[in-house]
Amino acid sequence: MESQKQVIERLRTTFRSGVTLPLHFRLKQLQALLTLLEENETQILEALHKDLAKPKFEAVLSEIDMVVNDLCITINNLHSWIQPTYVNKNLATKLDDCFIRREPLGLVLIIGAWNYPLQLILAPLIGAIAAGNCAVLKPSEISKATEKILSELIPKYLSQECFAVVCGGAEETKLLLQNRFDHIFYTGSQAVARSILQAAAVFLTPVTLELGGKCPCLIFGRLDIKAAAKRLVWSKFFNVGQSCVAPDYVLCTTEIRDALLPAIADALTEFYSAQPQQSPDYGRIITHRHWDRLMELLHKSAGRVVIGGEGDRESKYIAPTVLVDVQESDALMEEEIFGPILPIITIKSLEEGINFINQREKPLALYPFSDDSQIVNTVLERTSSGGLCSNDGIVHMTLPGLPFGGVGASGMGSYHGRWSFETFSHRRGCMLRGWGLERIGMLRYPPYKERNLGWLRWATTTKKSSWGGCSVM
Ligand code: NAD
Repeated sequence: MESQKQVIERLRTTFRSGVTLPLHFRLKQLQALLTLLEENETQILEALHKDLAKPKFEAVLSEIDMVVNDLCITINNLHSWIQPTYVNKNLATKLDDCFIRREPLGLVLIIGAWNYPLQLILAPLIGAIAAGNCAVLKPSEISKATEKILSELIPKYLSQECFAVVCGGAEETKLLLQNRFDHIFYTGSQAVARSILQAAAVFLTPVTLELGGKCPCLIFGRLDIKAAAKRLVWSKFFNVGQSCVAPDYVLCTTEIRDALLPAIADALTEFYSAQPQQSPDYGRIITHRHWDRLMELLHKSAGRVVIGGEGDRESKYIAPTVLVDVQESDALMEEEIFGPILPIITIKSLEEGINFINQREKPLALYPFSDDSQIVNTVLERTSSGGLCSNDGIVHMTLPGLPFGGVGASGMGSYHGRWSFETFSHRRGCMLRGWGLERIGMLRYPPYKERNLGWLRWATTTKKSSWGGCSVM
């Protein structure tokens, strides 16, 4: 078997050969990825069910169709994305060709997490292929069945000279990171992201970090409580709360909380029946270790469990759980929950809710719920987060036109749709000069003259527009 070093060397040699550059090669690989998904949907769904008891409905929507959608958008638009972007010129460069050219970065490393184990490897891979890179893929070792199926199918459908899957956990990933890559795309926890950044620093490798954190849901003012509860319950308990963008906690007034609780209970019964453990639409916690962490968090919390609270270690089941009277200092507020536990924290005013959010790390997603657009806009303007979706949860990340990524501690960089292509491209600023307009060009040469400086400034600087803004580019 080839060593990691040999795989990397082989892929790097391929990249240098230029084989990934032509548009038709990239389109062929993207098409092959589409065929992989079409021909193996059943096996993929089985693997996802093995790993997370993922219901088919959730797996199709959040893993397969999201990737298929991204693939189709990329295949349909790649021809136009790879065209150079021409920029505005000044008088001194009037006769030159001034453009931005998107070029591949080289050999990139994509490291995925276990909660959407297919999507988190294949969605960035689409961007890497589209931009003309070679890639090493490192799926999460925790979602074993999906890791296995990826390692079998990728070499079967994609060029083995350009793309390789490396299996293994922390040790194998650390070994991989001792090699030089031209970009590292990492999805996972903030803790591991620190060691990824350290490893990347050795080679000054650029990184994209898709991390997590605590996504707040701020419910304020008048709204349809029943509809809000349904959307909140769906987005929180989808994939059993194991989503980086799942609402982590709710901030609302006591009046809203009192109306919300029965509506949440109704929605839960409607979605998963009175016995969610029996529901085929409710998945499981990924491993016993993760189950232990969640149950320990629950036991450490000083909050009052009002819905759920039960768990069964053997089947890795945790009931959809809601707690009230949760204080800022509670164990549940110390880390990302990443499971089916929803604490509700009461606030007295919108100001208090906004301050609560702003005193913490910038979240990956923020969910203001209100009928009043002024309230939603106030939250939008006075906070920062990777993404924002009002009156719903998760849905914003399904739209490929929107860049998906964090800010501050929730990550750096973004992807999906065209943004993935941009992430894996270098934007090379090019100026192809001829020999024209030398009368202006020669004004820059010494011996410097005050008069020439005046002409040059006139010919090369942007004037402030009459309406007060600056015209750029
Ligand atoms: P994980 O344990 O699967 O780890 C992620 C990857 O890092 C795996 O491939 C793993 O092998 C590797 N890894 C683990 N330890 C390592 C180490 N010490 N050195 C190098 N590599 C190592 O997943 P996780 O970290 O538990 O993922 C959950 C986190 O990911 C949550 O915080 C969640 O919010 C976040 N997440 C973010 C997104 C996003 O798109 N922003 C998506 C999914 C998950």
